[in-house]
Amino acid sequence: MSNETIQAVRGMNDILPDEAELWQWFEEVVRDWLHSYGYRNIRMPLVEPTSLFKRAIGEVTDIVEKEMYSFEDALNGDQLTLRPEGTASCVRAVLQHNLLYNAPQRLYYSGQMYRHERPQKGRYRQFHQIGVEALGFAGPDVDAEQIMMCYRLWKKLGLDDITLQLNTLGDTVSRHRHRVKLIAYFEQHAALLDADATRRLHSNPLRILDSKNPVMLDLIAGAPRLMDELEEDALKHFDELQTMLKRHDIAFETNDKLVRGLDYYNRTVFEWVTTRLGAQGTICAGGRYDGLIEQIGGKPTPAMGFAMGVERLLALIQENGMSLPKTQVDVYVVHQGEMAGQLASRVAEQLRDASLRVLLHCGGGSFKSQMKKADGCGAQIAVVIGDDEAQTDEVAVKPMQGGEQVRVKATDIAATVYKFIKQE
Ligand code: ATP
Ligand code: MG
Repeated sequence: MSNETIQAVRGMNDILPDEAELWQWFEEVVRDWLHSYGYRNIRMPLVEPTSLFKRAIGEVTDIVEKEMYSFEDALNGDQLTLRPEGTASCVRAVLQHNLLYNAPQRLYYSGQMYRHERPQKGRYRQFHQIGVEALGFAGPDVDAEQIMMCYRLWKKLGLDDITLQLNTLGDTVSRHRHRVKLIAYFEQHAALLDADATRRLHSNPLRILDSKNPVMLDLIAGAPRLMDELEEDALKHFDELQTMLKRHDIAFETNDKLVRGLDYYNRTVFEWVTTRLGAQGTICAGGRYDGLIEQIGGKPTPAMGFAMGVERLLALIQENGMSLPKTQVDVYVVHQGEMAGQLASRVAEQLRDASLRVLLHCGGGSFKSQMKKADGCGAQIAVVIGDDEAQTDEVAVKPMQGGEQVRVKATDIAATVYKFIKQE
């Protein structure tokens, strides 16, 4: 048998305790923030039928073409995929359980997503998103709400250098008109197209606008603009959204090259971008997807959502120099001897009953070495129990920052510890 050590899958990260504390802090802030806007939690499986993502995200997208972890269930032949994003699953769940039956829904989820990309800073194969979806709202009020929500979160997190890019993708008719013009334009310049663009010319020409290839930029700059094709309703929607954002002093840039990597978007799309994370600067992105619910088998229902990349946001927070105090226990319980051990474990439970955080020493050792551990873990109080104390059902309480050690009845332990903690 090989005894080589086994490493995590490339692009999939462990989050170790020191870092996990930042994650937990972040998750708490995010939960309070979402609840303050009345959004409710929904939790979907990490695995869905492959057909769901193909239908929702679109066959000719980076995600479906080359990023999905898809496999056949060896036991029954089902075609399955590790979710690359959450909106498709969320809509699937909402329809399956009829949640839109008589009310619109404001929902959120968080968790792992999987994309087979080239791992690099800010781009992983397992990463985390917080996803926010408002289903059954035609906007633009809810579009503004979601963008304002993001703005509030950045402020809560102390991030002030994130800019908002905004665009509209219009509706079916305008997109179709634009598509015809785009194909004609790119066909005229076929020799200048790179391989990706050539492949997409007829299947998904809008995505060519999203190309990051420098040799294509001039060509793209001269392409027909969707903005010139917009129908009146879509234009009005976009204008109203901009007015609402201005009213709330939310700065934005309109960017007509912003098309997003998933096919289901229409009308409003947006991205929040920072220049401080190198190439992976988009930390949050979303938009309206009025056609998706019908496409997945529901009644036509307008909807709007966004997702933020947790790794990128946390990198930005760390870049800002934020550090958190380590989670510490309040009390370390030191003990030696058979009777003392029994009392120690009883006393530790009693302290936890009183809502204190307690480390009970395990593994024996001298009083001296145990006291060192108590010191190292940051506890304010050590409770010290030898058989001598145990015989009279008593314990010694010692404030770690100095001060008199006192001996008290085991039953009084919680009150005594609280008295010491209050004094400090
Ligand atoms: P990108 O252009 O960076 O590939 P995307 O358009 O594919 O992003 P979305 O599908 O809109 O990304 O996902 C929303 C957010 O999730 C992104 O803005 C980003 O913050 C984060 N994200 C996407 N892919 C990854 C990844 N592979 N690793 C880490 N975070 C990611
Ligand atoms: Mg991507």
